[in-house]
Amino acid sequence: MTSLKDDYTLLAPGPVNLHPEVRKALALPMIHHRTPEFDKIFKSTLNDLKKIFQTEQDVYMLSCSGSGGMECLLINLLRPQDKVLCIINGKFGERWAQMAETYGAQVFTITTAWGEACTVEQISEHFSQHPDTQLVLCQACETSTAVANPLQEIGAFVKNTQALFLVDGITAVGAYDIPMDAWFIDGLVAGSQKAFMLPTGMAFVSFSQKAWERVENNRNPRFYFDIRKEKEANQKGESFFSANVSIIRALQVVLNLILQKGLQNHFAEIHRRAEFTRTFIQRLGLKLYAQSPSDSVTALTLPPQVDGQKLRQHLEDTYRVTVMGGQDQARGKIIRVGHMGYIEDRDLKRFILCLLEGIRSFDSAFLKGLTLESLDQEMEKWLKEHP
Ligand SMILES: *Cc1c(COP(=O)(O)O)cnc(C)c1O
Repeated sequence: MTSLKDDYTLLAPGPVNLHPEVRKALALPMIHHRTPEFDKIFKSTLNDLKKIFQTEQDVYMLSCSGSGGMECLLINLLRPQDKVLCIINGKFGERWAQMAETYGAQVFTITTAWGEACTVEQISEHFSQHPDTQLVLCQACETSTAVANPLQEIGAFVKNTQALFLVDGITAVGAYDIPMDAWFIDGLVAGSQKAFMLPTGMAFVSFSQKAWERVENNRNPRFYFDIRKEKEANQKGESFFSANVSIIRALQVVLNLILQKGLQNHFAEIHRRAEFTRTFIQRLGLKLYAQSPSDSVTALTLPPQVDGQKLRQHLEDTYRVTVMGGQDQARGKIIRVGHMGYIEDRDLKRFILCLLEGIRSFDSAFLKGLTLESLDQEMEKWLKEHP
């Protein structure tokens, strides 16, 4: 029988639990970033990042949280007054729209109901009215609702316009298949503490050929996030500013783990965790919140008699399991559980068992006939049948 109480279990959609080898790398003594030892690590990580982004373009490393990477894509490509179309499926879409507004863009939005993805028809309709739109901003996975947007279709549409397609892949790149070049993505950002399974503090960005032309001709002022300066420095094997030595060393470990396993095998592992969670959430009679659920995070809708904020706290206090609740209009109504990071099968099972026990502590009649033992056996069987 899976133990309900165990070590602290971090199952948030970022930050995520660290692989033991990553923790070892983070404990190493500091070295200077201008040393032959670090030069080698820097070069190999830059090269391997391209494999995760699935691009021929260079990928750049920035010392900032994910939002800094979003800002980097934006300010290198946006000219004041540009028309920008922002897809909003939740909190992070709202953030990118605010950012574009702050930098003087003329922002148009397609706002979906929470839990829903956008459609390419909505985007095509916008373009029929505003063919001079310069940027399309979209989350790959909107982490606040666990929705995955149809990036491939959007990319295929935007490619035939003058606009650039910028994707926030912070909970997607490294967790599931987002081939940047094949899907005609012009700007892609990933974040260290989400799908890259590292501590918070770095963002990774890449620009398509089409985007680079805009970067070069853009007279917009920028300094810290001026990607031209980073490119110049990288060509000399250096970073523009002090490199984030600790996280980059840990990144090398993550990249080696993923690439040795094989990218698609890595995605398959995360998909399996998502499938398991979706299966057993529904086994408990609960509904998935997202209509096109992402593999990196699952959101479940709680029964109305259970307060999600209280349940989240209860899971943490009683079982030391950290998941996230909902924000804004989903506050108190949903629980979000992440599938990125170092997660073992027993963590998957423990979350489901703790969820059942947690709900019962607020509603003692919930699924009365179901024992923890029999649920545990069902889960064990599923895991054996889906190796
Ligand atoms: C977490 C997250 C961000 C913001 O990242 P920070 O590291 O908190 O700045 C942006 N977009 C998405 C989709 C995210 O999940």
